[in-house]
Order: sequence, then C-alpha cells, then structure tokens
Amino acid sequence: LQKNPLTYEGGGAELSDGTRVQLLANIGNAADAEKAAAAHADGVGLFRTEFLFLDREDEPTLEEQTAAYRDVFAHFPGKKVVVRTIDAGADKPLPFLTDADEPNPALGVRAYRTSWEKPQVLAHQLDAIAAAAEQTEATPWVMAPMISTLEDTEDFVGLCRQRGLEPAGIMVETPSSAITADRLLQVADFASIGTNDLTQYTMAADRQLGSLAHLNDPWQPAVLSLVQATARGARTAGGDPESFGEKAARPVGVCGEAAGDPALAVVLVGLGVNSLSMTPRSLPAVAKVLSSISLEQAKELAAAAVAAPTASAAKQAVRAGLPILE
Ligand code: PEP
Ligand code: MG
Repeated sequence: LQKNPLTYEGGGAELSDGTRVQLLANIGNAADAEKAAAAHADGVGLFRTEFLFLDREDEPTLEEQTAAYRDVFAHFPGKKVVVRTIDAGADKPLPFLTDADEPNPALGVRAYRTSWEKPQVLAHQLDAIAAAAEQTEATPWVMAPMISTLEDTEDFVGLCRQRGLEPAGIMVETPSSAITADRLLQVADFASIGTNDLTQYTMAADRQLGSLAHLNDPWQPAVLSLVQATARGARTAGGDPESFGEKAARPVGVCGEAAGDPALAVVLVGLGVNSLSMTPRSLPAVAKVLSSISLEQAKELAAAAVAAPTASAAKQAVRAGLPILE
C-alpha cells in the first residue's frame, strides 16, 4: 500500500505555466460513469457504446438505447461526454451488425464501416443519442471509430448535423486519417486519437498478439510522428497553425492507453493534444506529472521523443527530463 496515495481533485491538469489540459475518463456503461465522476474526471473522453450491446442478438430498441445513454449522461451534467458510435468487428462481434467470416478482421468491415451495409443501425444510434441529450444536461460530442477517408468524415458528420448533434468528430486510428487530418478536420469539429489502433495499424502488428507487444508500443517514433501530424493538421484546419493547447481551433484528444501513461502524457501534450482520456485510476499520476512541467518543456520533450531512433530511446529521453518520475 502506498503511504501517500496520489489524489486528483478535478478541474484538469495545470502545467507550471498555467496551461490547462482536460483530463477525461474512458467508460463503457453507467456504472463506469459513476466511478469516473467520483474520481473527478472533467467529463468522458471515450464512451465505448458497443459494450452495452455485446450480449445482444438483436439491435436494442430506440427506447432502450436512449435510456442507456441518458443513464451515462446523467453523471456529467453540463460536462463533455464523448460518445463513440458502435465499434464492432470480428474481435467484438455483434450478431445484428458484423460478419464473422472475414480473413483479416482488423482490416475488415469494422467500426464505422459497418454502416455502409447497415446504415440503419448507426442512424438509430444517433437518434437515441440526440433523444438522450434532450433529456439531460450533458453535451454529447459524437464521434465515429475507424474513419479513414474524407468521404467517411463527410458522411458521418452529415448524419450528425441532420440530428443537431454538435460537435461531430472522428477517431484518428489509421495512418491515413492522421496524415490527412488537415483535410478531415476542415469537415469534422474535433478528433480523438485512438493510439491503441493507430499503433497496431502503423506498425502492422495485431494488438491482440502478445508476441508483437514490442511493436505495439505507442512510444514507437512512427506512432508519435502520426500524433504530431494529427495535431498539426488540426491546427492548420482550424486557423492559426501556431496555436497550441486550449487555443487550438480544432480540439484533439487522445483516448488510447497512451493517455494514461504519465511520461507519454507529457509527450502528447507537447505535440499539441488538448485532452487526455484514460481509466479513472490513472488521473492522479497524470495530473501530477503534468503539473511539474511547462508547455515549453513538454514541447522540447515531445520533439526529442519524435526524433529518437527507437521506442526505448524515446522513452529514455523523456524520462530523463522528468525528475518527478524518479
Ligand atoms: C484505441 O484504438 O486507441 C481506442 C481508444 O479504441 P479501442 O481500444 O476501443 O479500439
Ligand atoms: Mg480503437
């Protein structure tokens, strides 16, 4: 047991120069939302909605879905709740949505792509989110997983706008969306980088295979370069390419596991990420490390990490600059 357990009182992380970074929670249902609120998360950065439906043979009714979203939103009145539309595929099958017979499930018709053949499931989900938003005081930020082209972005954002759902965003989980973020974010209002999938697709390494864990490492310089490209694209798309942090015109968050690693959180902020979403138990350690550095220092450490030759060199360079981790 730790003698002096870290605490987090909410309000985001404050860097030593006063720069603020939103600290949000990853959740899958209302019970998680309750825990996240108790842990003082500033809101929800990733609500994985498919977990509500994994044991279902049939699509849940509009009423059932509305109630499920409302129960989550109720824990965050007046706060941001980033709702991800269903992310199902062969690894997370949903009988009413996915095809189990794909040779390469990670590269298949998964996540947003399932709506190409079955648009009604996404349409119903967006209707239910809009209805739940009307019944509570939360502001849902809706986003779709596995967006890889401008056409995907335009179609998804269009569906959200038709229902008055704003802001409408995209997950950046593929190299294609990171590289073209400047264009995608002229259409989408925000981006959330899913570093778990972005890493698997950048390194061409199945995230479920333990034997590839050394490749599935968000410290890989190639992955960090794509985070940098996304944040740069967001600044270019939204206006002032030099603005950082809260001033960035298009908010960019990270909601993969990387956001909950304190040293990596510093790098992400230094690359221009505005919010970090993680499992609530990681909030105190991330807030503490961020409070020990300035934005300038974070930018310097991020530049060193991106320029490092290997993942371990990147890690070493950053840890050497963060004495608070010793
Ligand atoms: C990710 O890919 O980083 C992410 C947050 O989504 P998931 O882990 O649910 O695929
Ligand atoms: Mg993902």
